[in-house]
Amino acid sequence: MRIGIIGAGQLGRMLAEAGHPLGLEFRFYDRVADTPGGQVAPIVTGEFDDHRRLAEFAQGCDVVTFDWENVPVDSLTPIAKRVPVYPQPEILAVAQDRLSEKTLFRELGIPTPGFAPVDHRADLDKALEAFGAPGILKTRRLGYDGKGQARIMKRKEAGAAFDSLAGQALIYEEFVRFTREVSMIAARSISGEIAYYPLSENVHAKGILDETRAPARYPALERQARRHVRAIMQRFGYVGILTVEFFVKDGILLANEMAPRVHNSGHWTIEGAVSSQFENHLRAIGGLPLGLTDARGHSAMVNFVGSMPTRERALAVKGLHFHDYGKREARPGRKLGHATVVASSAKTRDLALVRARRLKK
Ligand code: AMP
Repeated sequence: MRIGIIGAGQLGRMLAEAGHPLGLEFRFYDRVADTPGGQVAPIVTGEFDDHRRLAEFAQGCDVVTFDWENVPVDSLTPIAKRVPVYPQPEILAVAQDRLSEKTLFRELGIPTPGFAPVDHRADLDKALEAFGAPGILKTRRLGYDGKGQARIMKRKEAGAAFDSLAGQALIYEEFVRFTREVSMIAARSISGEIAYYPLSENVHAKGILDETRAPARYPALERQARRHVRAIMQRFGYVGILTVEFFVKDGILLANEMAPRVHNSGHWTIEGAVSSQFENHLRAIGGLPLGLTDARGHSAMVNFVGSMPTRERALAVKGLHFHDYGKREARPGRKLGHATVVASSAKTRDLALVRARRLKK
């Protein structure tokens, strides 16, 4: 079975790495060849809106998926007429726009922070009237890892925030003073079987995921998260891995965003779960039985963003699993790799996490 992956970043690379032992073949599509994915499987280069080139690419594949959320939906629709594209382009279209995403959550009864669309300056004043400050003004599209966002701490900052993002469709969100952030990752197969990973607890720095610990043992939150993820999956007859990120406030989950793909907060599952999120995405989209999502112990993952420890230093930490994405260039805010520790108790996990954190210094 040959799987086509549009986008050849680290997520694509980890998909191929998980699929090779299963006897699956991979082919990537990206703008340039020297990518994390292109280093581990054949790659076709082309623009993401070159429909002819994409059609040629898809022809040799049994199923097509993507590792990048901003693949134009218009480019996937023609492919989906010839080969299955999972997750379905319909949900990608919703996930690409923060307003339609939050509107979907509301329709499905999933609580969210207060939000309002902002197209004109007057809309922002109205939103501030409704939700007050502080809040965050975000671009509806193409924002990720904290990009395309402006915080409004006081109302008088509204003008500057609006000007910094003007010209784009925006959304204003009330600022949530959350007690923690968690994410739920689950896989749904073509036959409708759903397998949920244990809840992950996440810490962000400057809008970028910094650390994840799992399993996060909050049974009441876990039940809510499963219900919300199930509602989204059932709405779309979803196939593949879906991730939903939540804020926790007063014991309630508020949905921040969803990703119709494998997710950084699930990297711990490579060593810390029986079958990883990458393997289960492939099992789901390939029409194969899903693997067990149980945790093998207590895991923690630290991200390397902007810079990486040397291999020698990282491998000197006993028990640490080191992942270098093979990116040629380090840039501030760029995810370059991660490390995971798996321990037999939450206490020993947290001790190992301290050692892993030191690698960042
Ligand atoms: P996002 O790009 O929406 O995933 O935001 C990245 C991170 O910024 C989140 O994981 C939070 O840590 C923080 N953040 C985003 N939106 C809000 C909000 N409405 N209230 C509080 N924190 C937020």
